[in-house]
Amino acid sequence: MPSAPCNALRKQGYQFFSPASTAALKPCMWCKRALAGGEMCYKHQFYGIASHRCVQMTPTLRCNQRCLFCWRSFEHEMPEEMECPPEPIFAAVHKLQKKALAGYNAVLENTVTEERWKEALDPKHVAISLSGEPTLYSQLPELIDLFNSNGYTTFHVSNGTNPDMLARCHPYQQYVSLAAPDKETYEKTCRPMGDYWDRINESLHMLGSRRSAVRITLVSGLNDIHPEKYAALLQDAGATFVEVKGYMYLGYSRNRLARENMPEHDHVRRFAEKIAAACDYKIRDENRLSRVVCLEREI
Ligand code: SF4
Repeated sequence: MPSAPCNALRKQGYQFFSPASTAALKPCMWCKRALAGGEMCYKHQFYGIASHRCVQMTPTLRCNQRCLFCWRSFEHEMPEEMECPPEPIFAAVHKLQKKALAGYNAVLENTVTEERWKEALDPKHVAISLSGEPTLYSQLPELIDLFNSNGYTTFHVSNGTNPDMLARCHPYQQYVSLAAPDKETYEKTCRPMGDYWDRINESLHMLGSRRSAVRITLVSGLNDIHPEKYAALLQDAGATFVEVKGYMYLGYSRNRLARENMPEHDHVRRFAEKIAAACDYKIRDENRLSRVVCLEREI
């Protein structure tokens, strides 16, 4: 896209699928580390996802929330964009992932083995979670189906504001974010552009019948309150997993929050324990480096 915002994102490593849309991919930090034989992301530990074979992408950078903890810049959003259809997105994944990883490979020099490089060029997982709200892309169900039918394991992360679209999507694992225990805290934390709290609850209620996860981004002094209210919402939703993850003081969120808002892992763990104590979930695993605790529904 020949715009200043997208040019800025290109410099940050974003690869755009078409000149007129904001559909983009960008390998995450863990993909780069795994490529060099280092640690993988907590999704490898929790769900067996090989980070160097994972494509992190989004079909749109648009979003209908302005979460304080979001690491993206709200200035980089394009109010008018032409959607890139699923087929050209799918067709370009290998090429753009290779282009993005080639830059890393050059920097990493001799640390990348031939075998790992070959694996990385043949990705198996797609995390639709780069930035923006994917359900604002009108062809999301078709895009997910296209990845599924070609053997990819699909992870879709949504803010839950669009339950009608969510109902039509069938990824391998559906995520819905829950950033607050009540409407008031939600509006303060996520600054939605509409009255979405009930819609998020509607989305949460769809999770019980699917392989799914609720993501709680815990921000110290903001939404780390009322664990029993989170527990009640989670109990009703019945998702397979809950990830309680500490906010990271990164990217553009540093303009909105302070380092003190970033909880230590022990704080995240204690909060997760309080949630687990008030509903039918048990702690399944945790990753100190990513400050995340995974809960699993007790059957
Ligand atoms: S919903 Fe996601 S992309 Fe949108 S502002 Fe919040 S964290 Fe950022």
